[in-house]
Amino acid sequence: MSHFSYRDGVLCAENMPLTAIASQFGTPAYVYSRKALVENFSAYADMCKGRDALVCYAMKANSNLAILNLLAKHGAGFDLVSGGELLRVIAAGGDPKKCLFSGVGKSRDEMALALSHDILCFNVESIPELHRLNQVAGELGKTAPVSLRVNPNVDAKTHPYIATGLKANKFGVAFDDALATYRTASQLPHINVIGIDCHIGSQLLDDAPLLEALDKLIELIDTLAQQGIVLHHLDLGGGIGITYDDEKPVAVRDYLERVFARIDQWRSTRHDGAPIKIIFEPGRSVVGNAGVLLTKVEYIKPGAEKNFCIVDAAMNDLMRPAMYQAWMGVQEVRKRNDAAVTYDVVGPICESGDWLARDRQLAVVQDDLLAIASAGAYGMTMASNYNTRGRAVEVMVDGDRAHLIRKREEPGDLFALESIPA
Ligand SMILES: *Cc1c(COP(=O)(O)O)cnc(C)c1O
Repeated sequence: MSHFSYRDGVLCAENMPLTAIASQFGTPAYVYSRKALVENFSAYADMCKGRDALVCYAMKANSNLAILNLLAKHGAGFDLVSGGELLRVIAAGGDPKKCLFSGVGKSRDEMALALSHDILCFNVESIPELHRLNQVAGELGKTAPVSLRVNPNVDAKTHPYIATGLKANKFGVAFDDALATYRTASQLPHINVIGIDCHIGSQLLDDAPLLEALDKLIELIDTLAQQGIVLHHLDLGGGIGITYDDEKPVAVRDYLERVFARIDQWRSTRHDGAPIKIIFEPGRSVVGNAGVLLTKVEYIKPGAEKNFCIVDAAMNDLMRPAMYQAWMGVQEVRKRNDAAVTYDVVGPICESGDWLARDRQLAVVQDDLLAIASAGAYGMTMASNYNTRGRAVEVMVDGDRAHLIRKREEPGDLFALESIPA
């Protein structure tokens, strides 16, 4: 069920009209539904109940402290990709011992920080990274828990920028090199090999490629066990997509059901009885459709070839259209009875790439409000200050209450760290 719906012709977040949010907090504003966040997370967490399984929310999708705190209260661990993200988890009251650290370029300082907080596991992506981690852990008198990110070379059939499991990608260890890499890792004194992970891409609508990847990981775990390297967890990464337009993604619950059926079947054929923890790293599907970007129409500019609807949000607020040519839904916050006109919805930034939506039928006039739908994931976290634009305010709606969860940045905030040489 969507928690963004029309009531008396006005688009609401739960019970709050977006018109009221715009008057109280201004625009552009990211508006999230608390209920939607909890429901989306629960789709994973409920299926994991009673099992040795953990949901590590991939926080690069949206890392606002209020959202992390909410998910942590519902039992979430976190998948992080920087030391900064670990500090966010701690600031939000999350548990570092439920954190995975992913990414191809971890620095020494980031490794040391994560080791000092005893994170659950480092998802290592290369041999040089293994050696560095071994050295940093040794210097600190620690042992680093490690999973290797294996590249199962399955085609996730998604946008090339968000497909990550093919041989040509920068991510992970090639499937054919995995055995040798595990052998190397198991001989390093300050490395404790505990798991295996993969992440084949984002915005996957079908779970067939994920199940194919699962089979490949299972095969590898069995081969490793024969060689005396016993793994304790299997992490399938993120990846179920969401509906932006008319996509029909597989239901999260159905995907997890198929994963657990496969796991149960596999474990029943093994007699060593060694338990294996299953980990998921969902990002987009937890926050994507739990948020909208609320924006105001500044000008209507008719043209010879195109009509432009110029709004106060821009590519710095929401990069996905400019970066991936992503299609985002646009909704009039207050329905008008006027005839719709075809517009490109664009921002004020001095780039032709600054558009949010193209060729949309809208009935709008100056000062009307629009909502860019399904903007909760990879929206605010990818925002920048290009054109010295402060980042948008963020608001979390809970029933008929709206909470400010991040203030709007003011221009002074943006140059506060700069200095002019004497
Ligand atoms: C981005 C990312 C995820 C989350 O992917 P979604 O498609 O947003 O669920 C999970 N794991 C890793 C390693 C990632 O880089």
